[in-house]
Amino acid sequence: MTADIWDVVIVGAGLSGLSAAHLLRKRHAKLKILILEGKDRVGGRTVSSEIPAAGGADRWDFGGQWVGSTQTHIMELIKDLGLEVYPQFNVGKKVLHVGGPTCKVRMYRTSIPTLSPLVLLDFSQLLWKIKRLCRTVCVQDLLRTPNAAELDSMTLHSYIEKNAWTQEMKEQIGVCSRSVFGVEPCQMSFLFFLMYAAAAGGLLALLESTPGCAQEFKIKGGTQQLSECLAQRVGWKNVRLGSAVMAIWQVEYSNISLGGLMRSDTEITAPSLGKQPVSSEGSLSSA
Ligand SMILES: Cc1cc2nc3c(=O)[nH]c(=O)nc-3n(C[C@H](O)[C@H](O)[C@H](O)COP(=O)(O)OP(=O)(O)OC[C@H]3O[C@@H](n4cnc5c(N)ncnc54)[C@H](O)[C@@H]3O)c2cc1C
Repeated sequence: MTADIWDVVIVGAGLSGLSAAHLLRKRHAKLKILILEGKDRVGGRTVSSEIPAAGGADRWDFGGQWVGSTQTHIMELIKDLGLEVYPQFNVGKKVLHVGGPTCKVRMYRTSIPTLSPLVLLDFSQLLWKIKRLCRTVCVQDLLRTPNAAELDSMTLHSYIEKNAWTQEMKEQIGVCSRSVFGVEPCQMSFLFFLMYAAAAGGLLALLESTPGCAQEFKIKGGTQQLSECLAQRVGWKNVRLGSAVMAIWQVEYSNISLGGLMRSDTEITAPSLGKQPVSSEGSLSSA
């Protein structure tokens, strides 16, 4: 077994890991950085694949795909990497079907669907309450949010059960939760939900595809290119694919060692900055 020494070892070649590597490299060009990725590709939850389309093969996004003009960091990164965006097509009728198979399918063109006066009132009061709570959230440091522990002790479901008046509104929130977060309202901390909405500029901004909202643009050629371009900038030789980290050892005042399913049988070591021992073990599927 050989022992390689690196200044920084990053676990995961998704957008976070590769952006961190890119920023570090920009600040200190000589840093020896290694990125270990369990899968056989970069991009993590962003993945773009080529599939046949009407005008010939096209690259489609199967994970993260939208960006918005208010998301200034990613917009700057897109520009810096020489990528281009195009507006999300959102012209035409929208379709809403809630309440089960027996309920009718509704069409609408405005940002809010056609609702009965009671549901509309419910929607307004709920939106107003969530907006007020969003303003209190400290996005940079969630624990500095007033009542953070209380907000975190409830789920989106328990908040909605207490604060929504109508069944239809509760179901609408369920649809939002599933489509935006991929989980049921009962599986998500209400504090996390507020932070996510606050970071997007509010609940409506999180859900909409109009200018200034979270689904405003898509990236030409797909979002996985962000990670591919970042890997290019950092240097592909510094990105090891198929290298799942299974354990991290840190001994006080000493180096940090990482062990795992490496293609090469190599122990990787980075200098320790903290005093606390780190012990983390786990497995990773390469799917
Ligand atoms: C279907 C879907 C749609 C989405 N839509 C949007 C959207 O429209 N707009 C938006 O902004 N966001 C969207 N997101 C969220 C966005 O894709 C993620 O927030 C973002 O990609 C997360 O990047 P990350 O680097 O933090 O994590 P990840 O992308 O999860 O990257 C983590 C990486 O670390 C690797 N890894 C983990 N453990 C280990 C280990 N032990 N050893 C080695 N490697 C390891 C993983 O394999 C992975 O490659 C969507 C996500 C999904 C799934």
